[in-house]
This record gives sequence, C-alpha cells and structure tokens, in this order.
Amino acid sequence: MDKFQIGNISVRRIEEWQGDFMKPVDFFVGYEKALFDKYSVDFPADVYDKESGLFYAFLQSWLIEIGDKKIIYDTGAGNNKERPGIPVFGGLQTDFIERLKAIGIEPEDIDIVICSHLHIDHVGWNTTLQAQHWVPTFPNARYLFSASDIEYWDPANIKKFPDKIGEKVNQGVFEDSVQPIIDAGKVESITGRFEVLPGIVLEPAPGHTPGHMVMKVESCGEHAIFVGDILHHLIQIHCPNWNSIFCEMAEDARNTRRNVLSYAAQNSALIFPAHFGGQHAVWVTEKDNRFDVAYTKPI
Ligand SMILES: [Zn+2]
Repeated sequence: MDKFQIGNISVRRIEEWQGDFMKPVDFFVGYEKALFDKYSVDFPADVYDKESGLFYAFLQSWLIEIGDKKIIYDTGAGNNKERPGIPVFGGLQTDFIERLKAIGIEPEDIDIVICSHLHIDHVGWNTTLQAQHWVPTFPNARYLFSASDIEYWDPANIKKFPDKIGEKVNQGVFEDSVQPIIDAGKVESITGRFEVLPGIVLEPAPGHTPGHMVMKVESCGEHAIFVGDILHHLIQIHCPNWNSIFCEMAEDARNTRRNVLSYAAQNSALIFPAHFGGQHAVWVTEKDNRFDVAYTKPI
C-alpha cells in the first residue's frame, strides 16, 4: 500500500530502493533460529526471501500532508553518493525525485524535512549533486535533525565519540548529506519533545542512535507513529529484544523498541517504519508483554 489516511492527515510512501539485504543471523543481535523460523513462516516474500535466505529490505520515505503543509520523514540513500562503507548504497541512480513529481510534488513544495536519525540510508536525499557541490534538494524546507545525532556523527567530534558502531557504514555521510544543509542555514536542531505542527510531534527515541527521533501523529482521534530504524523488520515485533547490528546503544535500543510498540498497541497507532516490505505499515497488539503484528486496525 502506498496511501494512508490518519484523520485529516494523508501519508504517502515514496520508494527509493528495494532488494535482498542480509541474512537474519548476520543482521540481528540476539538472533535465535527457532524463533525466526517460527514467525517467518507467515512473512511475505518481500519481507523475507525464503529462497535466498536473505531478508528483503526497502528504502522508503514518507510524505505527510496536513492542510497545505508537506513533510518528508527520512530521505533514503540519495543519488551519486560515494559509500565505501556500504557499497550497495553507493553510486545509486534512482528516480526517487521523479516518483515525487509523478504524484504532483515538486522538491520546492516540501516545507519540512525530518531525518529520524543521521544514518546513511535516512539522509541521502537531503542533498543533490550540482556542479560538483552538494546542495539542498528541497530548497524551501526547514530540515529538522536531532541535536545529539548532529553532535555524535560530526567528524569534528571523533575524539569525543571514538568507538561508533556505525563509523564505517556512515563514512562520508555527514560531509555530503548533513553538513551542506547546516552550511546553508536550513537546519533546526531538535532537543527533547518538539511540536512540528498541530498534531505532529517529534520525541526522543534513543538507542539505535543517541538522537533517534520518532514522530507521533494524531488527527481526529486516529494515531500513527513514524519509527525510522526502531524497527528494521517484522521479526522485531515478535522479538523486540533483537537489535540490529547497527544499533549504537544496545540497552536503550531494546527499551525504546518496547516503549514504541507499547505506545502503538495502546493507541491503535499505525506504525510507519523505513524498511518494511509487505503492507509497509502495520499495527500491533500487545498481550502478556508480547507483541503481535496486525494487518488491519485492531478494535
Ligand atoms: Zn539506522
């Protein structure tokens, strides 16, 4: 599904990339084969490729429209980026911008860009290469980044944070996809809870990265939560203690994942992750401290 409605707020999925990604055993910290086998029976082929044994991933952005305001949450990997630390996302030439245009949205129309966190596959389309320079792709937008992720990933602070798990995969990312936005004076750095627009709130969700932010949306009594990389894959709903190998702070990542899932279950909030296949967005239910996937809204 590519179109969703949360009360008066519309949400559209803009896909950048999809493909086989990694073996679950290599991707999840805490992986247990018996549990994966149990739950993956029901996974669609574009969530887990049973033939190759690889989990299948998407890079997708969410376009949120409220009144005449347009927000993009997460901006994928981007085109033309050098990515020695994760070659699969290097030198991409996708038609992401053409897909936006195909639904009637020009880059100039975007009012707000939000990056859930400053990892390689969430900041890429912040910038576009023009005459050898990285320039803001969305020239009229305010870009909302978390202050603690800016501090953590800025190469100038390498001495303060020398042991980042994501140091290698995020090589070059700050320089080509974050710093040019700062230099253009378009960044609003976010600390704590922040109201983006009425009914749309950013909240700290630390663990995957120190400054990861989720976005909660409420309209006409309906709820949604945009979770970035708090969840990479459906299996983490069943096994919320499984971190990804890219989670910087293990204990915080597990606590945040459980908190986000509980919030979603208690509010019947539709969960919008960055990388899910299948329906791309799901609900969850909670019973006896365990979570289940729901493909239709729980009553
Ligand atoms: Zn991430």
